[in-house]
Amino acid sequence: MNKRTIRDLAPAEVRGKRALVRVDFNVPLDGARITDDTRIRAVLPTLRALIKDGARIVLLSHLGRPKAKPDAKYSLAPVAARLAELLGKPVAFCAGTDTDAALAATKALADGDVLLLENTRFLPGEEKNDPALSKSFARLGDFYVNDAFGTAHRAHASTAGVAAFLHPAVAGLLMEAELKWLGAALEKPARPFIAILGGSKISGKIDVIEAMLPKVDGILVGGAMACTFFKAMGLETGTSLVEPDRVDMAKSLIERAAFRLTLPHDAIVAPSIGDPARAHAVKRDAIPATEAMLDIGPDTAQSYRRAILSAKTIVWNGPMGVFETPPFDMGTNAVASAMAEATAAGATTIVGGGDSAAAVEQMGLAAKMSHVSTGGGASLEFLEGKELPGVAALDERTGT
Ligand code: ADP
Ligand code: MG
Repeated sequence: MNKRTIRDLAPAEVRGKRALVRVDFNVPLDGARITDDTRIRAVLPTLRALIKDGARIVLLSHLGRPKAKPDAKYSLAPVAARLAELLGKPVAFCAGTDTDAALAATKALADGDVLLLENTRFLPGEEKNDPALSKSFARLGDFYVNDAFGTAHRAHASTAGVAAFLHPAVAGLLMEAELKWLGAALEKPARPFIAILGGSKISGKIDVIEAMLPKVDGILVGGAMACTFFKAMGLETGTSLVEPDRVDMAKSLIERAAFRLTLPHDAIVAPSIGDPARAHAVKRDAIPATEAMLDIGPDTAQSYRRAILSAKTIVWNGPMGVFETPPFDMGTNAVASAMAEATAAGATTIVGGGDSAAAVEQMGLAAKMSHVSTGGGASLEFLEGKELPGVAALDERTGT
């Protein structure tokens, strides 16, 4: 990795200094209750390292989609409380973000103290990457750390703009791990290298397929995305989720990819998601006109399993079926289990994508993957080969 990280900082650059740390605390809330604190836990290593080295920590994050103005239901106050529990030390919270009170709060910190400021998206300049806001963010710290991989594909004031005004600007440990795993998979994968792509829409993933095709030894397709390919092959797709305006694109991909693109041979179909009792397996050329494909079929699950077990690097994005509703989770479960087995056998396994990560988490297999990315959209853009603005803005590592 060619970006500086907090591990490259000299002790004198850290101790007694205010570390302005952009994190991704965009957690799901039920009222003021945090229903999943994975994203908070993910940045603990960075925070603990900075605390240990005597930094004074100032945290910036967004939460939800407030409309560029304060909105109590998107306050980060509940996150401060949860973070304090997880760190086992007090976390101060400031109801302002770039206010005089916020600046004063940063200056009142002692070494090892932690302060969380209010939601960056309460400010109109945040998503516009307004230089004036970036400058006022820069006053809140003595150096900048970006550990918000999940937001690194956005050029916002707190994720990118601020780094123009505040140096050192370095990656946190989570950011470093994400870039290391995803980067190594794309740059020097142990082969065979396969990608497994699924999920609801081909439209959101077409660029990933295009970018990965020349790099991988094979792409295995599942999810509703497969149905658009079936349509392109002239097959009956019944009431499956098909994107009619992407059929031509799918046709062209099939032609160009040749044997490197594998589509499901069979499917689990049912009259609707709400009718799981009537789920049954059919060959892909026998999808009933009145039913929808809701999962890959058992033969496909078996052959994908074999492909995974014979690969050395596997990148997976997108569930194989409607995994939220059993029995349409069988294909997704089969892929997740095979990936866990492959990891144990020495393969590098990477899961990217919000729903795929949730599926793996739900099965209790997250710890059995080499890496589960915390960034859905960001990991997709990385796999597309795009430069992430939040990463590009960080200091280059010079020398050795
Ligand atoms: P990720 O977040 O991992 O990138 P996506 O957001 O692209 O994944 O897709 C996840 C969604 O795709 C899930 O909600 C799942 O129910 C849906 N899905 C998967 N297969 C099908 C299918 N055959 N028909 C309808 N929806 C599907
Ligand atoms: Mg998703």
